[in-house]
Amino acid sequence: MGVLGFLLEVVDVIHEGKGPAAQALQAMEANPYEMFKTQVRLAGQKLGLPADLLKIIETPERVLEVSVPVKMDDGRIEVFLGYRVQHSSARGPCKGGIRYHPAVTVDEVKALAGWMTLKCAVVDIPFGGGKGGIVCDPAGLSEGELERLTRRYTAMILPLIGPSRDIPAPDVNTNAKIMNWFMDTATVLRGEPMYAIVTGKDVAVGGARGRREATGRGVMIVTQEVLARLGKDLRGATVAVQGFGNVGSVAALLLHQAGAKVVGVADISGGLYHPSGLNIPELVEHVARSPRHVIAGYAAPGVVPIPAEEVLTLDVDVLIPAALEGQITERNAPRIKAQVIVEGANGPTTPEADVILEERGCIVVPDILANAGGVVVSYFEWVQNLQYFFWDEAETTARLAQIMRRAFQDVWNLAQAEKVSLRIAAQMLALARVAEAIRLRGLFP
Ligand code: GLU
Repeated sequence: MGVLGFLLEVVDVIHEGKGPAAQALQAMEANPYEMFKTQVRLAGQKLGLPADLLKIIETPERVLEVSVPVKMDDGRIEVFLGYRVQHSSARGPCKGGIRYHPAVTVDEVKALAGWMTLKCAVVDIPFGGGKGGIVCDPAGLSEGELERLTRRYTAMILPLIGPSRDIPAPDVNTNAKIMNWFMDTATVLRGEPMYAIVTGKDVAVGGARGRREATGRGVMIVTQEVLARLGKDLRGATVAVQGFGNVGSVAALLLHQAGAKVVGVADISGGLYHPSGLNIPELVEHVARSPRHVIAGYAAPGVVPIPAEEVLTLDVDVLIPAALEGQITERNAPRIKAQVIVEGANGPTTPEADVILEERGCIVVPDILANAGGVVVSYFEWVQNLQYFFWDEAETTARLAQIMRRAFQDVWNLAQAEKVSLRIAAQMLALARVAEAIRLRGLFP
């Protein structure tokens, strides 16, 4: 925890743990860019990489801040803050999603961009890393406001992006519809087709078949792989999923279809528990029909509502955090019972929590490996856009599985050989690849 953390804890004991000190500690624990830098340093030291090279990798290449004025439906003009961070182009064009969320900060986007660099390197696809974000609450925007926001943001970051420079994609609260607008805006402004400038589009406008399900499918594949290494079968394994968006819901559905028992699920509206497994197809349908696309309001025999945070500490074989970063901390890690954690979200576990989980023998399949399925199929989409040649879904699924299994095996082998966690192994593998590209390119000028 460190001295400062300890002092803050003492102050909070006096204030019954709810004072500003607790909040400050939590904010510090959860600063994702600090987390990213800590992770790079740890894995870099293990690899024996020189400190100045690590300095290059810790810091993003470019950070763009944009102001995005939008005419609201009532005639007012509101100005939103947006970012695009290009972390590294050493291994290829920058690649990574765009997030719409009220809590977006530049440090968060920097961290997410850095994780994209490592993610693309772990699965060995020819991209660097980038990420974008707009500070906004999309739930409070009308369809027209959302479209104008997206189109103006696209125009503002257009000087920096492009099919061979930086290719955005969906992330938290963004989807195919937003990517379609993004592509269309770039096409109109550049005066030529710009399909390959963004991935995650609808199939009718250049999207790849299977992209929407890709991240969840990747999570399912690595869950299968890690359980197999532990001599366990997915069939009958109990699973808890935090987050029921594009990643969590698809992972839950595919795991359910593969015979796992998804006993607990949570999203922003609360949690649900059924000891012998929730009916996930029914729950997915409920969420699709619910106006806010949440699990609240779902009821079935034997289903018990639980507080959302309790889903993390359920007695299950596999826990899948698939919401936001900084969810598993030193505060709740000691209560986690799952033997395996598969990180569907980016950065859900703090470095402090990692230490606790490792001591307790919990195996964490890290984000940069576990949720890489999305960017892998984004890569396929980009390739198809550049070639104007489209694959069927079976080809996408087969190639995705091949890449995920190979990456899992590489990381597993390295972890065994180096006697380190899967996280450190994945970071070592990724950093070594990024470092090699930087070394081979040399430093300009
Ligand atoms: N936002 C996703 C991620 O964090 C996908 C990025 C992409 O497809 O470029 O991996």
